[in-house]
Amino acid sequence: MSTQISQSISMKPIPYGRQHITEEDIKAVADVLRSDFLTQGPQIEEFEKKFAEYIGCKYAVAVANGTAALHLCTLALGVDSSQKVITTPITFAASANCVRYCGGEVVFSDIDSKSYLIDLNKIEDLLKKNPNAYKGIIPVDFMGLAVNLEELKKLTDKYGLWIIEDACHAPGGYFIDSKGKKQNCGNSNFADLAIFSFHPVKHIATGEGGMITTNSKQLYDKLLLLRTHGITKNPALMHKNDGGWYYEMQELGYNYRLSDMQAALGVSQLSRADEGLVRRKEIAAKYDAELKNILITTPLAAEGHAYHLYVILSEHRKNLYDFLRTKNIFCQVHYIPVHILPYYQQFGWKNGDMPLAENYYDKCLSLPMYPTLSDEDQDRVIEAVREFYVTIK
Ligand SMILES: *Cc1c(COP(=O)(O)O)cnc(C)c1O
Repeated sequence: MSTQISQSISMKPIPYGRQHITEEDIKAVADVLRSDFLTQGPQIEEFEKKFAEYIGCKYAVAVANGTAALHLCTLALGVDSSQKVITTPITFAASANCVRYCGGEVVFSDIDSKSYLIDLNKIEDLLKKNPNAYKGIIPVDFMGLAVNLEELKKLTDKYGLWIIEDACHAPGGYFIDSKGKKQNCGNSNFADLAIFSFHPVKHIATGEGGMITTNSKQLYDKLLLLRTHGITKNPALMHKNDGGWYYEMQELGYNYRLSDMQAALGVSQLSRADEGLVRRKEIAAKYDAELKNILITTPLAAEGHAYHLYVILSEHRKNLYDFLRTKNIFCQVHYIPVHILPYYQQFGWKNGDMPLAENYYDKCLSLPMYPTLSDEDQDRVIEAVREFYVTIK
């Protein structure tokens, strides 16, 4: 091989995350394009049924994206402008925005310095100080690491809060409960509702797409209504019936439906979800082993971690990020703390309010993590990180 070719291969861009589309995926979508239904066809129910089985919950509702899923959840739980809802500052803005869509107030609560998840002790402090102030909480299984919802539910039951689990990072993730049982992220054994996203960087990709999971028939029925304009054609739910054309709009809903093409892609992707998880764990184990002697902090390695992200902490994060870019390795920062985004600063949130989240943000960097990351490409990432630390010594 000439050096020119090997150089161009070695400089192939490596993103922090990417989708994995196979020929079967493409065929599944093409089959829908040849069928009678492009939206609201049989693939939606198929995807919902299989996803609910995968997660281990009773009901699943496919929606347009993860943000729409969050919005439908806050609507279904009746969030309004008199209510306060708690969430973590280290998440994607949508986890907080869904409260604002309904006019509610977002209260951020700082993270745990080891897991980077919302700190349950700090939540307890908040609730103790103001027992009747909060309506709900939106914990996030950040990076793919499960929040211990059994512990959280003890608190929320005591103070009367609902739980929406943002499990966008964690399909296939789980924690072990006090009886030694696996509790899958999103199974809604402890949360009222849970949500997922099928954005291309997530575990399961449908382009745009999302899912809500629950064990509550009442919330399920409400979500179905709200997903499609608040309209029902179900004779059992209607006040009257003028004929075959008749429907009733009973609530102010939205068009947050997923298309059949996307659902077919979802079904096909879901069949390979476990494979992807195994590969993600392999990649994480190799980073753990290869980076442990460098001056960085590797992430907490817990059982049940779904490794959507592999986040390291570095005292030289900006320089490391820039250095890796010169090597065509495109890392990312997850996340800028939501409370210091300009939109949330207007409500009085400022730098200094969440010291642990802000300290985390100063150092965090997400290394490339996706099932099709090859061993050679991961070696390139590891070598580049090592090279950086040699040059700064
Ligand atoms: C991706 C993501 C969302 C939003 O999902 P979209 O499908 O992009 O709307 C919400 N919360 C978290 C934690 C996410 O990672």
